[in-house]
Amino acid sequence: MAKSKAENIIAGLSMEMVVPATPQEAEAGDVVVCGRDSYFPDDIRTFCAECGEAIVHRPHAPANARKICVDCAHVLIAADDKPVIMATEQTMKEVKAFILRKKGAH
Ligand SMILES: [Zn+2]
Repeated sequence: MAKSKAENIIAGLSMEMVVPATPQEAEAGDVVVCGRDSYFPDDIRTFCAECGEAIVHRPHAPANARKICVDCAHVLIAADDKPVIMATEQTMKEVKAFILRKKGAH
């Protein structure tokens, strides 16, 4: 079955596309992509600004950017010719700590 343009764009996304951002640059972003599952006790629970799905984000997420779920993010990314995907140093640190914790817990 032929893949849609949107599916091809999403399939082409990789970690190399994630660019480092300062908190100021992150604050200027349009949306924050949020997961459904909580991994940290201080996660903020809210709802996707697009579809209303229950989501969580970190307390240091940009305050003014709309918080959206992964599914809605896929739609936005697919619709954007040159999507810019950013992560702050704080986010990268937390992701790293989370992965190390997961690896340690076997
Ligand atoms: Zn959504």
